[in-house]
Amino acid sequence: MRKHQLPQVHSAFRRLSLNLRSVKKEVVKAEEGEVFDIELSEDILKANQRLAEENKKLLHSKGIRAIDIMGAIGSGKTSLIEKLVQLLKGKHRIAVFKGDLTTTIDAELIARHGVETIAINTGKECHLDANLVKKALQKINLSKIDLLFIENVGNLICPAEFPLGSDKRIVVVSVTEGPYMVVKHPFIFMETDVVVINKVDLAKAMGTDIKQLEKDVKTINPKAVVVTTNCRTGEGVEDVARALGLLS
Ligand code: MG
Ligand code: ZN
Repeated sequence: MRKHQLPQVHSAFRRLSLNLRSVKKEVVKAEEGEVFDIELSEDILKANQRLAEENKKLLHSKGIRAIDIMGAIGSGKTSLIEKLVQLLKGKHRIAVFKGDLTTTIDAELIARHGVETIAINTGKECHLDANLVKKALQKINLSKIDLLFIENVGNLICPAEFPLGSDKRIVVVSVTEGPYMVVKHPFIFMETDVVVINKVDLAKAMGTDIKQLEKDVKTINPKAVVVTTNCRTGEGVEDVARALGLLS
């Protein structure tokens, strides 16, 4: 069902296997047709793809660039958006869509910076989809903006399979998530343009090797641009903006 083959991540797995010596060799694997929700979703994915293309067309017709920010819970997606908004709001007319299951906490954090912010509550859905983004697009005056940030629900798995119609996709991964966050979630890194390694100030304390994380990303997706940040202080945020083509 997955559209992509697993990339070559042998070196990463070799490294990983060192730590798995005491684990039984047999691994229980879901076979094709055995994973209920993925089987169900083939039509859903196609419908989502179609809506994503419509969203993209609409955004382009209004001269709007859209960026989808993905990443695990607590990786720093909202902090990154806040810093990007602070950096870019003088140069761009920005709106932000903020996906969360129920709350508007993040949306309120972002709205403090004086940009139009729409909270998208997904209920039980663990990712944003193109239909929800389409609905949110109907709630803003598209002629008043030229840049749209879309913060996805905190999740490194299914957002990869649900394009929203954005021009670029970012994955934020923080060093506090441990050394294997990238190799364990290859699909989302295959679908991304920029990978932000956040909370670099905590790398030493966490024993996370940033260079290795970067290598893992490049092994999975050689085209991805990797940027290191501390989104609390703003360190590296200009590099993110540059990688997205938002700063000259
Ligand atoms: Mg957030
Ligand atoms: Zn999901």
